[in-house]
Amino acid sequence: MEPFVLAHEPALRLAAFAAVLAVMALWEILAPRRRRTLARRRRWPANLGVVVLNTAIVRVLFPAAAVGMALSAESQGWGLLNRYGVPAWAAVAAGIVLLDLAIYLQHVMFHAVPALWRLHRMHHADLDIDVTTGARFHPVEIVLSMLIKLAAIAALGVPPAAVVLFEVLLNATSMFNHANVRIPSALEPALRWLVVTPDMHRVHHSVERDETNSNFGFNLPLWDRLFGTYRAQPRAGHESMTIGIPDFRDAAECNTLTGMLAIPFHGGKALPRGIHHGKDALHSQ
Ligand SMILES: [Zn+2]
Ligand SMILES: [Zn+2]
Repeated sequence: MEPFVLAHEPALRLAAFAAVLAVMALWEILAPRRRRTLARRRRWPANLGVVVLNTAIVRVLFPAAAVGMALSAESQGWGLLNRYGVPAWAAVAAGIVLLDLAIYLQHVMFHAVPALWRLHRMHHADLDIDVTTGARFHPVEIVLSMLIKLAAIAALGVPPAAVVLFEVLLNATSMFNHANVRIPSALEPALRWLVVTPDMHRVHHSVERDETNSNFGFNLPLWDRLFGTYRAQPRAGHESMTIGIPDFRDAAECNTLTGMLAIPFHGGKALPRGIHHGKDALHSQ
């Protein structure tokens, strides 16, 4: 593990986040996939605000971060990959793929277990979807995810390099696959065999329950195809599908920082569907 990467990990990570955010935001302006249903200024302050909050919480609670656990596992010989003396390059590749599988399974679990869904539904309650949705998670979900990741790293013996690569990759692909970007239709069907595309993940943000419970992958589309949770397109089409969850349709709670943080703890303010669709149309631009 390069000492430079370890010493400058927070700065490198912030630079990667800012660079991907800038590129995707520019792409959203140049080639948007759908018309926005809620203006950026109504969504971005809270979506980016929760990123700042989560970053601070993780720094305080887990000063050694996930890479610290990987270094301990390496020096103590913990976990499958360390125990069986797998060659370094193979351990890095296997570590990344196995962590991606762990994140897929964790995502399915956050949908299936009601108490966990309460936390995860904050991610889904965004009334529109774009690059910033990809970093919008409840702080308690972030802490639980970190604990699960630490356990997975120790059990699998994921090498430190794989952990850093995976975290930067997951951050980048999450912002990519939430972005409101148009990918040429000649390229998209092939690309979604390699990586989860925005059109694929947008199905997961549909207000329709069966569509919400599909396309759980963040990096590799393989897991959804393998475990039967893959769904190619939303029934209503990408242009006219409704984003979000039925019980949370009020921008005052779904797209403000205090409202978002409270989402796990109450049932939401559902509006009759017909009324809300009318309201959506008014916000269209
Ligand atoms: Zn989800
Ligand atoms: Zn998502």
